[in-house]
Amino acid sequence: MKRRFDAVIVGAGQAGPALAARLTKAGQSVALIERHLVGGTCVNTGCKPTKTLVASAYAAHMARRAAEYGVITGEVSIDMPTIAARARKVILDSRHGNEAWLEGMHGLTFIRGHARFVAPRVLAVGDDTVEGDRVFINVGGRARIPDLPGVHDVPYLTNSTIIPLESVPAHLVIVGGSYIGLEFAQMYRRFGAQVTVVEQGPSLISREDPDVSAAVEEILKAEGIAIRTDACCIRLAKHGDGVSVGVDCRDGSPEVVGSHVLLAVGRRPNTDDLGLDVAGIRTDGRGYIEVDSGLQTSVEGVWALGDCNGRGAFTHTAWNDYEIVAANLLDGQSRRVEDRVPGYALYIDPPLGRAGLTETQARAAGHAIEMATRPMTRVGRAVEKAETQGFMKLVVDAGSQRILGASILGTGGDEAIHGILDLMNADQPVSMLKWAVPIHPTVSELLPTLAGDVRPVRD
Ligand SMILES: Cc1cc2nc3c(=O)[nH]c(=O)nc-3n(C[C@H](O)[C@H](O)[C@H](O)COP(=O)(O)OP(=O)(O)OC[C@H]3O[C@@H](n4cnc5c(N)ncnc54)[C@H](O)[C@@H]3O)c2cc1C
Repeated sequence: MKRRFDAVIVGAGQAGPALAARLTKAGQSVALIERHLVGGTCVNTGCKPTKTLVASAYAAHMARRAAEYGVITGEVSIDMPTIAARARKVILDSRHGNEAWLEGMHGLTFIRGHARFVAPRVLAVGDDTVEGDRVFINVGGRARIPDLPGVHDVPYLTNSTIIPLESVPAHLVIVGGSYIGLEFAQMYRRFGAQVTVVEQGPSLISREDPDVSAAVEEILKAEGIAIRTDACCIRLAKHGDGVSVGVDCRDGSPEVVGSHVLLAVGRRPNTDDLGLDVAGIRTDGRGYIEVDSGLQTSVEGVWALGDCNGRGAFTHTAWNDYEIVAANLLDGQSRRVEDRVPGYALYIDPPLGRAGLTETQARAAGHAIEMATRPMTRVGRAVEKAETQGFMKLVVDAGSQRILGASILGTGGDEAIHGILDLMNADQPVSMLKWAVPIHPTVSELLPTLAGDVRPVRD
């Protein structure tokens, strides 16, 4: 059967359903095609279940620390089936909520199946073809399986398969010391597993400044997580006790044996099986779809939103992609993806909230910078909560006095960073912060102090 619509959207992740809602509200006929689970990565295998598990891990951690606060508990133990059930409930509630939203969307045709381009704006789904005047690709990504020696000879976990685990691994070896790997590392350590993080680079979360990365490493090591950086020639092999991970590091044992291995070495876009070449839609060397400022692909009338366009790797960036496209097509605006102020968080405890450029990036971009830092030991709220690990750091352009970026590694850092993000979005000078009257006692109340402490930095 051939079907024709005003708009065809591929993928019911973060951007697709919201765009479908706007387009149908504007009176357009819309087809939304989804091959697997409504809600995509964030709902089913990403943000939502991981942050639910992080919350359980935090509860375990605080229960173990309870005596420090004068609270006496019994021995703390982990009920992994209940922890997994909590995550499952959060997933299902969210997925069902999204499904109900789509079901009630007047003007939407929801199609289940794998979509593949057969012409620039025509897709095959099973035996049917679906054509749109406009096509929006929102196919997201999946865990990248690195081409390590032995990888296909051993069982391994990814973010998708570790989430439903109902038992605690004796020893979880995590290959990859970046955002996803570190969240699982701390969480599983707090659930009682022995945890080793194997990272081929010289430091964890290598995109961050060295002081941030070092502080994160210290936090994780303090909880008993083994970190093996500079791991060259990582290789996997079967072992009587699970899986042997060869690390060949400068120091320590050349091999780590884990009961379980989690591969967390990045993501790859779901563009390899989409027929993009047939449609003439260009991708970069890593398979990300090339888009212009308004997120249109190399083919007119075809847009790419979310993780698959390589312009963001977060739920909020996928959502903002939808906002950009909707504003440009329906509200007569000319929003550009380049105008987005980057922000994200790493949800270890304490979390790292990030805005804009790192100090390293600011210097590399040629900015003369001013900077201020403050340890969390000098943040009243952190002291009161007895959660004083980490520090905050503000990077300012010396000339324009605009904030270039900030890192808040500390309790509440994922929330407090929004004070910085808002100022950056408003394009106001850092001095504006000094006149804010923040609420006491909060982590945010130190942002004006930090702004007042900003000083020129020599190279
Ligand atoms: C472990 C983990 C934790 C994360 N934590 C966070 C976090 O805390 N905060 C945050 O902002 N981000 C987080 N992310 C990232 C976030 O999940 C993604 O950035 C976000 O889901 C991207 O949304 P999307 O709409 O681009 O794609 P997705 O959500 O991946 O949706 C794409 C959809 O397209 C479907 N699809 C793919 N190909 C086809 C096809 N050919 N035909 C039909 N359907 C197709 C897929 O089945 C999927 O449902 C996390 C990711 C992971 C893996």
